[in-house]
Amino acid sequence: MPKPVILAVDDDPEVLNAVDRDLRQHFRADYRVMKVGSGAEALDTTRQLKQRGSMIALFLVDERMPEMTGTEFLGEAIKLYPDARKVLLTAYADTETAIAAINHIGLDHYLLKPWEPPAERLYPVLDDLLTDWRARNRPPFDGIRIAGTALSSSSYALKDFLSGNQVPYQWVDLDEDAPTRELVLAMPEGMQKLPVVFFPDGTPMVQPTPRHLAERLGMQTHAQRPFYDLIVIGGGPAGLAAAVYGASEGLRTILVERYATGGQAGTSSQIENYLGFPTGVSGADLARRATIQAKRFGTEILTAQDVVEIKRNDPYRVVKLSDGSELSGYAVLIASGMEVRRLDVPGLEPLVGAGVFYGAALTEAAAYRDRDVFVVGGANSAGQGAMFFSRHAKSVTMLIRGSTLSTSMSQYLVDRINETKNVRVLPNSVVRGVKGTDRLESINVENVETKETTEYPAAAMFIFIGTAPRTGMVTGLIETDGQGFILTGRDLMIDGRPPREWPLLRDPFLFETSVPGVFAAGDARRGSGKRVASAVGEGSATVSMIHEYLATV
Ligand SMILES: Cc1cc2nc3c(=O)[nH]c(=O)nc-3n(C[C@H](O)[C@H](O)[C@H](O)COP(=O)(O)OP(=O)(O)OC[C@H]3O[C@@H](n4cnc5c(N)ncnc54)[C@H](O)[C@@H]3O)c2cc1C
Repeated sequence: MPKPVILAVDDDPEVLNAVDRDLRQHFRADYRVMKVGSGAEALDTTRQLKQRGSMIALFLVDERMPEMTGTEFLGEAIKLYPDARKVLLTAYADTETAIAAINHIGLDHYLLKPWEPPAERLYPVLDDLLTDWRARNRPPFDGIRIAGTALSSSSYALKDFLSGNQVPYQWVDLDEDAPTRELVLAMPEGMQKLPVVFFPDGTPMVQPTPRHLAERLGMQTHAQRPFYDLIVIGGGPAGLAAAVYGASEGLRTILVERYATGGQAGTSSQIENYLGFPTGVSGADLARRATIQAKRFGTEILTAQDVVEIKRNDPYRVVKLSDGSELSGYAVLIASGMEVRRLDVPGLEPLVGAGVFYGAALTEAAAYRDRDVFVVGGANSAGQGAMFFSRHAKSVTMLIRGSTLSTSMSQYLVDRINETKNVRVLPNSVVRGVKGTDRLESINVENVETKETTEYPAAAMFIFIGTAPRTGMVTGLIETDGQGFILTGRDLMIDGRPPREWPLLRDPFLFETSVPGVFAAGDARRGSGKRVASAVGEGSATVSMIHEYLATV
């Protein structure tokens, strides 16, 4: 943990050196002593330290400096460090000014120059102030800080991206943290462009995209090799399983993930039916373990890269990424899973991230402590979400279209929900609209039986209304069904024969698509089990088919 700073400021080099020497002698073990020669320079240093997330424990500042007096400097500096102790170095004639500063800027002490001997006239005063400061200040968070305003969709997107990728960060709400707000206001774009991400070395990044953030954090976003045996699209359970088996069996394997590994499973607060975890496992934990395992076997994992197209250049397969770059390989596995369906009702779109969330939005739970939240949907994911939010919110209301939960949800979850006092279920309910100026305020719900519409005040609404396959990148190349699910193996056969365009003498393998060498596994594939275990099973099983395919190219 970096030491807190004592900042000495004086325009007279001789006095500054003397202060610096005396401070170091006594405080060096516990504090970092810094010295600067003017108020303006001191303000710059103070800003830089704030950007880095460093702590300033004490300012020791000469009152008489040209351009900016000690009092003027302290008046600015306390906006960034309101808790730092403030001491003025004064001449006898400045006593009046120092007394005024006690009233105006909360000066803690003034010292008359010279302060000889320091053991009597300097250290006791400063020791006392620093002990007091230490008692009230905790060490700062030593990592990335995201500064923005609560309930903003761009802030939410970054928080979600970092938490999905399991990068620790501290959220700084600029409406509540005046010093950081000052810091942001002093930047060229001020509060116009938020959020601002501060890195531990002090450098800021204004409104970064997830990919820029990923690059800055040292995540891999570009391929290292010119060619791969296996290119996996999607880092959910199916893709990760294929990567683990592929890489562990010697295939040069790369996995491309548009957002965060773990996929849908990674967003689940608790997966209770995955084999080998009798008390359940959080999606984040499962994703972290699988990602480490895939990397350990040598899989390259590209993050924040979207596959936009797959091209055929026989016998090679080419995968085009959203930044325009291309990957080449022999075999491709599409494990792009499903994405949540959007709710299309009036007023909703501008409030996404500002009280309206798709999926469990685990990062937001704390913001809705003791508030009334709504969960839309009646399937297992909605049930898990409702249980998760019931631990934080005052009340959770589940809006379900059907008349009971039992038709759409596993019985163990229905039982849990029924046993949880602060969760209620409103059957026959459909959201017809939402209201709110800059945050969600209320939801209009129609009872489809009685046709009555009721407006419920709501702090947040978490939407779980199903999913659709994410297979747009193969349109025109690979056969899909009417809903976009990818056809593989037997599903491709017509009257016991492969489709006419199929170029090989053999039939497609079980998980092979209409293009040889391109496979599909997990939720994106027609007929898949839509469960973590089945996605893992399909991803793993595909690797043996890929070996067979590779033996022919
Ligand atoms: C909230 C929730 C709770 C669930 N709970 C359970 C449970 O308790 N038990 C259970 O068995 N199942 C559960 N499921 C279902 C389970 O999570 C899925 O069946 C499983 O995750 C499917 O895995 P997958 O790898 O096929 O796809 P996904 O998990 O959907 O992963 C696909 C990945 O591909 C990425 N991707 C998509 N398109 C591209 C592209 N063009 N380029 C790059 N990357 C791309 C996505 O970002 C995603 O990370 C739950 C699902 C949800 C949403």
